[in-house]
Amino acid sequence: MNDFIIEKIDTYPLFYKLKEPYGDANGPKKFRECFLIRITTRSGLVGWGECVDWLPALQLSFEKRITPYLVGQTVTDRELIIRQVQGWHQRAASGISMALTDILAQAAGLSICELWGGAHQGVIPVYASFQSYTDSPQWMDTSLQRIDKAVDEGFTLLKIKVGARPFKEDRVHVERVQGAYGDRIQLAIDGNQSYDVGAAKQWFQLLQEWDNFLWFEEPIPTDRVHDYAMLRTLSPIPLAGGENVVDATKFIPLLRQSALDIIQPDVMHHKGIDAFRTTLAMGREFGMRCSPHTYDGALSRLYAIFAQACLAPWSKMQGDSIEPVEWDVMENPFTSLLSLKPERGQVTVPTGRGIGVEIDEEKIRAHLWDGSLY
Ligand code: MG
Repeated sequence: MNDFIIEKIDTYPLFYKLKEPYGDANGPKKFRECFLIRITTRSGLVGWGECVDWLPALQLSFEKRITPYLVGQTVTDRELIIRQVQGWHQRAASGISMALTDILAQAAGLSICELWGGAHQGVIPVYASFQSYTDSPQWMDTSLQRIDKAVDEGFTLLKIKVGARPFKEDRVHVERVQGAYGDRIQLAIDGNQSYDVGAAKQWFQLLQEWDNFLWFEEPIPTDRVHDYAMLRTLSPIPLAGGENVVDATKFIPLLRQSALDIIQPDVMHHKGIDAFRTTLAMGREFGMRCSPHTYDGALSRLYAIFAQACLAPWSKMQGDSIEPVEWDVMENPFTSLLSLKPERGQVTVPTGRGIGVEIDEEKIRAHLWDGSLY
């Protein structure tokens, strides 16, 4: 068991200032951040994980508390370790769970999917996810240009934002996207919880006009479970949500009241990769579709793809049996920290030992956070 004793933790806080801010109904984003950890065992096995939070908070948590605790622990005590760290910093626990899972898979000579019992799917669809707004009055033209590029690259599933501008303006955006690409794509719209019931219902007439809408994401705050259940009976297209819900138990009210058609958990907002998989499995038990939310970095998205590959299909329909995972197509250097790339809107699930792909350490060094507050 000595082989599994944790010897070293390296942390890599990464920061990137965007050339031009972009955003959603929550406002513009001026930067992207990513926090990677590397756990090394006494025998030289290495596992990587990713966490999300304000970088100074994560860095201090690791330095003062988590790293001193982890060194000397045994990787095979994964559940106990994660439970301990959850009590200090839930989001750090998620990254640690990835790194420990990676190490165990490598030690067993298995891919992550093999460790989890095998993949149902070797290929996972991904959808191009846009932050549609900029501060410019020409934001809609910029959005259309970005969509044009993604469609050119082979994406057929797209998600755009609504809810930051008046309904009439957002409607023109949706109509322009549908007019230009509607015959080639399927489209989701995401309100980021910006409406109330009345404002959300304004969309329903328009949503009936095309048959290629994927879903309406978070039109209203996710804790309005009754309102969601009512909207779901009225909405002409599926309702989706739950990217900030932190574990399976918090999904229960939404599941029990059939308030959504599609749940969208995020690996890094959960208490770990195992907790995330529990949520997906529970979604299936309640007969819901599961389309994981991912936003920050490439590694957490890869874990979402592994989990999706190991999830039983929701449907027997050929070609439509597994739900897509979100793929950030905005300016973000952390998207390419892994060599994994979609082709024609699909990702081939890596089958090598552990995560099965290399992490670009040169790129990590190029984007290390300089320690200044932001
Ligand atoms: Mg969303």
